[in-house]
Amino acid sequence: MTLPETDNRPALDTLRRVFGYDAFRGNQQDIIDHVVSGGDALVLMPTGGGKSLCYQIPALVRPGVGVVVSPLIALMQDQVDALRALGVRAGFLNSTQDFGQRHEVEEAFLSGQLDLLYLAPERLKVDSTLRLLDRGRISLFAIDEAHCVAQWGHDFRPDYLELSRLHERWPQVPRIALTATATEATRKEIAHRLNLDDARHFVASFDRPNIQYRIVAKNRPEQQLLELLTTEHKGDAGIVYCLSRASTERTAQFLVQNGIEALPYHAGLDARTRAANQSRFLREDGLVMVATIAFGMGIDKPDVRFVAHLDLPKSVEGYYQETGRAGRDGLASTAWLAYGLQDVVQQRKMIATSEGDDAHRRRLGTHLDAMLALCETVECRRVQLLNYFNEQAKPCGNCDTCLTQPESWDGTIPAQKVLSAVYRLDKERRQKFGVGHIVDILLGRPTAKVQQFNHESLTVFGVGTELAEPVWRGVIRQMLAQGLLTVEGDHGTLVLTDASADVLSRRREVRLRKEAKQAAKPARTKAP
Ligand code: ADP
Ligand code: ZN
Repeated sequence: MTLPETDNRPALDTLRRVFGYDAFRGNQQDIIDHVVSGGDALVLMPTGGGKSLCYQIPALVRPGVGVVVSPLIALMQDQVDALRALGVRAGFLNSTQDFGQRHEVEEAFLSGQLDLLYLAPERLKVDSTLRLLDRGRISLFAIDEAHCVAQWGHDFRPDYLELSRLHERWPQVPRIALTATATEATRKEIAHRLNLDDARHFVASFDRPNIQYRIVAKNRPEQQLLELLTTEHKGDAGIVYCLSRASTERTAQFLVQNGIEALPYHAGLDARTRAANQSRFLREDGLVMVATIAFGMGIDKPDVRFVAHLDLPKSVEGYYQETGRAGRDGLASTAWLAYGLQDVVQQRKMIATSEGDDAHRRRLGTHLDAMLALCETVECRRVQLLNYFNEQAKPCGNCDTCLTQPESWDGTIPAQKVLSAVYRLDKERRQKFGVGHIVDILLGRPTAKVQQFNHESLTVFGVGTELAEPVWRGVIRQMLAQGLLTVEGDHGTLVLTDASADVLSRRREVRLRKEAKQAAKPARTKAP
């Protein structure tokens, strides 16, 4: 059987006439042709790649209304306004509307006066919505941010699981699922859960050449951030990601005190403040948003010049998504991450005490390991990042490791000292000794705790005076990243792993990366 030839002129015509662009980008044309002719598609394309047109144009070309499922309720109004400004008849249905507003949109849908209808996923659980859709003519279903269906991904939304029903209820309507999340595992899970195993998969390159990736050792994070902003990103718009609500507030305040216009954003703020801060960020120039990962998905601000992380992301996928919000306009941008020993301890602790079964914990551990490998690599960051998404690349010449080749050193003896100390303390299992205490012992510091437990008498006491405290912390951090140590329980106690014995018995050499000198130097508070 041969498929009928598709006429792509209406698509190109729509691109020019409605959207005002000359030509399709990347594989937009193929995707659009496929969906226009009624095929299902799974589209993986990086942020800024132009996913929206892949369903908007087919919705305009095919008869009926294109139904777009999106979790981004806060942005629906903006998206719809932008389309209306282009003359596209668009509307949305979500929980923020009152009965009258909803009714108006429903009427427009039924009378064929809409081209695109945006829906929050939870709407599709409501029977009346399903019946409404039955009564209209649907041209396609677009499932935006499709990775939200991936249960173990970084942004799971239970409502997305219901979307597999679309196909059962409307088998003849083509579906296009889109995401900027790209690992093989996530892609398989999306295809499986959304019943898209037979769909055509379109995978674009995930390289973002204009983003410079940099990962530095964290010692005085706020000062390091301030230095970055005042020396390289004066007056630029950017996003600073923090793990906790409290630290977003604190960091925003710190930046404001230092003359940088910054706003906090996290799920603990009331909806109105959140909306106000978001819209200021979108509309004003040069604002810095200090946010938890609650902020950013779907934010279309082209000139975000930097994304800074003050805490370690939980996965490479999360890191890629968040950094991907920089430089949608294609101009040079910075992705900067400060990461330290406490990040590793804290995250290992969180995993050890997280809810869910062992398989779940193992999965979280694998995600973290990949993120740590990216942080500790001595190779090109971009190569490593793209490899994670199964893409081959050459060293980019535009990341920190390419620009300054990191030196490595033989850390076997220091690693043995750390392991011996951990081993000795492990004998007093009922006590909880954190990383700080281990470092005190290695440096031979007679702290109160050292004296209380008579740790001055340990053979390892004071065996590490040849290295300074920050170096020891770096050694322990890298050992954690390499799996030579791990963290147990909710106290963050260091414990040995299977690999530890190989190091202690000298069967295994430990290569460590030298920390950049610059990172050890305290940052200036004021510009000279
Ligand atoms: P994504 O959803 O993949 O992050 P968008 O759909 O928001 O990306 O598109 C990113 C930007 O690129 C938007 O400003 C969009 O208008 C623009 N764009 C998309 N396709 C084209 C094209 N073919 N020609 C020019 N600009 C385009
Ligand atoms: Zn590189």
